[in-house]
Amino acid sequence: LVVGDIDVGTDVLIIGAGPAGYTTAIRLGQMGLDVTLAGPDIGGICLHQGCIPVKGILYALNLAADMRNAGAMGITADNVSLNMSKLRAGNDQEIHRLETGIRSMLKASGVQVFEGICSFTSSSSANLVSHGRTQRITFKRAVIATGMHYSVPEGISPDDKRIVFPYAISRMDTVPGSAVVLGGGVAGASMVSVFAKMGTKVSIAYKQSTLISWLDNDLLQAAMNKLAGYGVQVFPGASWTISADHSTVTIRSGDKTQTLNPDLIVLCSPMKPNIEGLSLNNTKVKLKSNGFVAVDDHYRTSDPSIYAMGDVLGGRRNASVAFRDGLTVANILAGKAELPDFQAMPLTLDAGLKITCAGMSEKAAEKAGIDVSVSRSPYSANGGAATTRSPEGFVKVISEKSTGRILGVFIAGIHAGDLLGEAMLAIETGARLEDVALTLHPHPEIVEIFADACARGAGLSANVGKK
Ligand SMILES: Cc1cc2nc3c(=O)[nH]c(=O)nc-3n(C[C@H](O)[C@H](O)[C@H](O)COP(=O)(O)OP(=O)(O)OC[C@H]3O[C@@H](n4cnc5c(N)ncnc54)[C@H](O)[C@@H]3O)c2cc1C
Repeated sequence: LVVGDIDVGTDVLIIGAGPAGYTTAIRLGQMGLDVTLAGPDIGGICLHQGCIPVKGILYALNLAADMRNAGAMGITADNVSLNMSKLRAGNDQEIHRLETGIRSMLKASGVQVFEGICSFTSSSSANLVSHGRTQRITFKRAVIATGMHYSVPEGISPDDKRIVFPYAISRMDTVPGSAVVLGGGVAGASMVSVFAKMGTKVSIAYKQSTLISWLDNDLLQAAMNKLAGYGVQVFPGASWTISADHSTVTIRSGDKTQTLNPDLIVLCSPMKPNIEGLSLNNTKVKLKSNGFVAVDDHYRTSDPSIYAMGDVLGGRRNASVAFRDGLTVANILAGKAELPDFQAMPLTLDAGLKITCAGMSEKAAEKAGIDVSVSRSPYSANGGAATTRSPEGFVKVISEKSTGRILGVFIAGIHAGDLLGEAMLAIETGARLEDVALTLHPHPEIVEIFADACARGAGLSANVGKK
């Protein structure tokens, strides 16, 4: 390597080209700033190994299941089968198309893009290693947007064949005969759901007593029932060891010990920030006690010229938050008015059935001592759900008892992600139950279930009592 091959100067250097990084870069470019974006993969985890490929796989698996179950609609689809390598190729094509779109936005905004890994050499310079060549970049301000990764549990060495992280899903060419998912939470639930829907004999072990500790019991129960229907073996409150040759996993749960011999072991371990390669010791950037990058309310690190955003900040983060961080930080760096903070973060997962959440849960309200009302509407009472033969699931709305203001919405059932859009707007705008209930909704559509849950809470539903 020859250090200092070419020197590049830029006003703003953004490190990491995921949703947070490329959003900031495009916005700053559009506002006329001199911006450089550096990262090995344009689109980040979201595009290449996370949201998009996993959702693409789940869509295909749900479609195959719908086709198999379409007899009641007079459709006969014999021998529905899944070709994983074709599914992967199709997903890769869409990912490539989306990446091309991001690249052309970056180009049109005048952003200088370097594909490589950056490390700080000071508070105003960094080295960028790309294709075996090192370039020195000097900057006035830098933004760390390097994301996070699953930690490697002590004593376990993933081999990317038999022991993998969830990223491996995006590269799968065959359906494993059997799999064990180690770790719960949103990641564990999503992984076990993908394998169950593929037809893999799958088990899940997690340390907590419940699969997703913060989820209200009714949603959790709906997910667990669905997973049980797929024959998923569940080990709550578990600990485990993997044999040295990676062939077996011994799981201890309650008073039971079981040794499994799966084709695949998927590690859904806690996340760590991607900071190893950044040489933060050459800057004044400080970390929080959990190891993630510390910032103030304006995304400034303890180094006056360096900002940070997205997953590298830790906490409950996802792509929606990363996109928003990207816009907010662009405004801050361009000296524009800061965007208002958001009230609620949307969360979507597939845990046997689709679950989406936003805002305050019943559990959280109880913990915070807030007096809330809870209203529910079942899919089974909705005409739209009936036309799609999908009576399973419900919408639950948590509202402030004294005002009717909507504080949280939790949905289990098909199209839960689409329903959550209106719920997010209701929470953000401070809507009350009757605001939604008295808004005419298209009929017969699944979105009416949210309106009905609000109407039931406001005492305005003709459906009250209908289960
Ligand atoms: C399997 C999976 C499924 C997911 N599904 C969803 C979902 O359905 N919905 C949702 O909202 N979220 C989902 N997420 C989370 C979502 O992908 C992340 O929250 C989001 O990508 C965070 O964006 P980011 O820009 O902060 O970081 P990232 O997308 O992680 O991007 C960071 C980039 O920085 C690069 N980088 C790291 N170190 C350096 C360095 N030293 N120099 C240069 N570049 C560097 C990385 O290579 C990466 O490209 C999922 C995640 C996973 C793993």
